[in-house]
Amino acid sequence: MIRVGVNGYGTIGKRVADAVAAQPDMELVGVAKTRPNFEAEAALRRGYDLYAAIPERADAFTDAGVETAGALSDMLEAVDVVVDCCPSGIGAENQPMYEAHDVKAIYQGGEDAEIAEASFNARGSFETARGDDHVRVVSCNTTGLSRVLAPLEETYGIEKVRATLVRRGGDPAQSDRGPINDIIPDPVEVPSHHGPDVNTIFPDVDIDTLGLTVPATHMHTHSLNVTLETEPDREAVIDLLAGENRTFLIPEAAGIDGAGKLKEYAMDAGRPRGDLWENCIWERSVNLSGRDLYLFQNVHQEADVVPENVDAIRAMCTELPAEESIARTNEALGVGLDSLLADGGEGERLTADD
Ligand code: NAD
Repeated sequence: MIRVGVNGYGTIGKRVADAVAAQPDMELVGVAKTRPNFEAEAALRRGYDLYAAIPERADAFTDAGVETAGALSDMLEAVDVVVDCCPSGIGAENQPMYEAHDVKAIYQGGEDAEIAEASFNARGSFETARGDDHVRVVSCNTTGLSRVLAPLEETYGIEKVRATLVRRGGDPAQSDRGPINDIIPDPVEVPSHHGPDVNTIFPDVDIDTLGLTVPATHMHTHSLNVTLETEPDREAVIDLLAGENRTFLIPEAAGIDGAGKLKEYAMDAGRPRGDLWENCIWERSVNLSGRDLYLFQNVHQEADVVPENVDAIRAMCTELPAEESIARTNEALGVGLDSLLADGGEGERLTADD
């Protein structure tokens, strides 16, 4: 069993903890938190050992009647790998502590790429993290782009990628980032920093990205144009993308027109927290003009990196082949939406309007 700790139990940390706890070959030793708030309560309800991330604040847990299993240093002594899910920049501050405890560490996309030996996406760069001590799982947007670009590059070759990323203003619980009423070029510099981040996974792909932020909370929307090196037909590209195991091709018959209905779909499917771990690609949007491929996809920023963190753990701690790790993660979590409407012929089996 790989012993795993999670430091930082917010949006990403709580999801990674649940995903680790669900794996047959991993043991969640515990989670570290700075405060005994509602999320600490959620961890306790799930039966997770709670560790005080900041020693000076340990008394706050006792005062709130929350029992801890010790300090963060105790958790670090008990694990093979820690998944740092702290806010952007805190991971870099934590790195010397992880090194002092001689523990492998995974960082999130808010950290600079230089923090780690490898940037990770299971589909795009699994082997680059093999046996590494410090790995960064790339951001939600880079994860979403990597999952589409990997099969396109392998199958058709990529001449040039142009992507416009319409990004949610904040996560649903981030009241400090809203409300807003605007559409903001973000960053206003073009091309944006997202393309170079994709190059940490695919160094040779020529990609330009543009970013916007809009007053939404559920998901990001990507408008993608990929100039391929060959000219496949549309059906072949749809089959290729549908054949990937972390993509969901949204059939037209589903009547899903945006992030709101996608989240409803996930909740109707019984997904924890309404999470969508897959890239959600509108099948109707997939089109070719010569060698230019176009599509719209949505990525759930709170969820898509979660299975990637699980696979990063196996890349760092085991010899398991990438495909087997991905399959094991998907099986344990239930990744892989497959609409009953996918072939367009069985609409009566869904009661989406009820
Ligand atoms: P968050 O604010 O929801 O959670 C971070 C948690 O860490 C909070 O509970 C906070 O109290 C805690 N924390 C703060 N300082 C700490 C410390 N010193 N030690 C331990 N815990 C500490 O943030 P998040 O959205 O989960 O983001 C975490 C990381 O994941 C960031 O690098 C972010 O860029 C990245 N990421 C976020 C998203 C997203 O959309 N939320 C998507 C992909 C990647």
